Amino acid sequence: MVTDLKTLLTAHAGRGHELFARHINPQLVRVLRTIGFDRNYVSGEGAILYDDAGEPYLDMLAGYGVFAVGRSHPKVVKAIREALELSYPNMVQMDAPLVAGLLAERLLSYMPQGVDTVFFTNSGTEANEGAIKFARKATGRKRIIYWDHAFHGLTTGSLALNGGAEFQKGFGELLPGATKIPMGDIEALTAEIKKGDVAAFIFEPVQGKGVYVAEPTFYAEAERLCRENGVLTICDEVQTGFGRTGRMFAHQHWNLSPDIVTVAKALSGGFIPCGAICYRRWIYDRVFTDMEHCVVHSNTFSRNVLATAAGLATLDVLEEEALVENAAKMGALITDGVRSMADRFEMLSEVRGLGLMIGIEFAEPRSLRLKAAWKMVHALNRSLFAQMITVPMMKRHRILTQVAGHNMDVIKLLPPLIIDEANVVRFLEAFEDVVADCHKFPGSAWKVTKDLAAASAKAGRATRMDSSNP
Ligand code: PMP
Repeated sequence: MVTDLKTLLTAHAGRGHELFARHINPQLVRVLRTIGFDRNYVSGEGAILYDDAGEPYLDMLAGYGVFAVGRSHPKVVKAIREALELSYPNMVQMDAPLVAGLLAERLLSYMPQGVDTVFFTNSGTEANEGAIKFARKATGRKRIIYWDHAFHGLTTGSLALNGGAEFQKGFGELLPGATKIPMGDIEALTAEIKKGDVAAFIFEPVQGKGVYVAEPTFYAEAERLCRENGVLTICDEVQTGFGRTGRMFAHQHWNLSPDIVTVAKALSGGFIPCGAICYRRWIYDRVFTDMEHCVVHSNTFSRNVLATAAGLATLDVLEEEALVENAAKMGALITDGVRSMADRFEMLSEVRGLGLMIGIEFAEPRSLRLKAAWKMVHALNRSLFAQMITVPMMKRHRILTQVAGHNMDVIKLLPPLIIDEANVVRFLEAFEDVVADCHKFPGSAWKVTKDLAAASAKAGRATRMDSSNP
């Protein structure tokens, strides 16, 4: 019998992985065990997680970007607690809730001129699903153009706009008219748009998979091209939004004015699912055409008081603690720090990204011994080398990092925006230690890949090790 949460957690301490494997996702639990990420976290604060032995972990994943303000931020906790204590009427369904209105007003204050309407959602993928529908209805056209390697979510519509075949395979035909072009390719975009049947071009201003940024000239040119041809621009800021890239929204780096901006992740401080579609009123007018169509697109849980109250508090924290500026500053410290190691480590080839969305790429070495080792590892599995970094970062240094995508030698950092200089230094020292180890062959670092490959082979193809961001 459940008494209270604390008692329940104490009674079942240490059973998380067992229950998850039995009832939720055994393949994921196998991966966690194999890469040594099977820890029992019991609390978290700021950029740090603590396990059941009281050991601290530096979290450079931030829950895939949701904890921009850090874990357990007291101001966001207070807002949620207050919303509960006030017994504020939540989700009265035939109603126009005040807190949602306040958050919409606040959110729009950061948006480009003319983006004046909000539709709240429960997730990033749901925001993109809505954006697809709105673009099709508003333009009367069907096709959506997206980038190679794009990631917009994993429900059917946004999955159709996924640039990696590995996510789509086996799920049948998805969205008619979804058209992939190479990332940042203005000629390909022009050719598709000239066909006259394109509803929208959707893009992540900084691509999450692999952390790629297009040529700076691409963005404004694409926007002009779309506007001239009646094609809507959908800027997916689910990951890049709310200061992640060193600007409140990444499209501001290029002074863009998208027709639709989708957001989620960091919006409600990581506590309660919350996303939004921010868009122009003329698009709204073509979707919600009259009273009969006032809920033609709708959902049950969004506009909920806890999520929207957390959203308002999160935006306050971002401003009060100057976290957007901190993201730019700490991002530069990390990228400069990693770049300064490049001349010592021949496999360290590139550091890229914006603000605190950072990709670190490795490449084939020139020296013969390392070259042979590199080739051997890549013959085993194209995603394995990056695990040679993330696994010891965790096992030896208790730092959470991730592989940036399938079949690439890139690791990705997405730390909370509250990260300070001391933790940046902690990361850089650990990273240097791990990378130095990879440059010794034979050595223990290379043994990791053999162990991982063996575990993967033993478990069968279905558990090919993927710990990249879903
Ligand atoms: N768009 C982008 C750019 C994302 O990074 C993600 C999540 N990684 C999504 C959409 C999907 O968001 P969610 O997981 O909340 O559905």
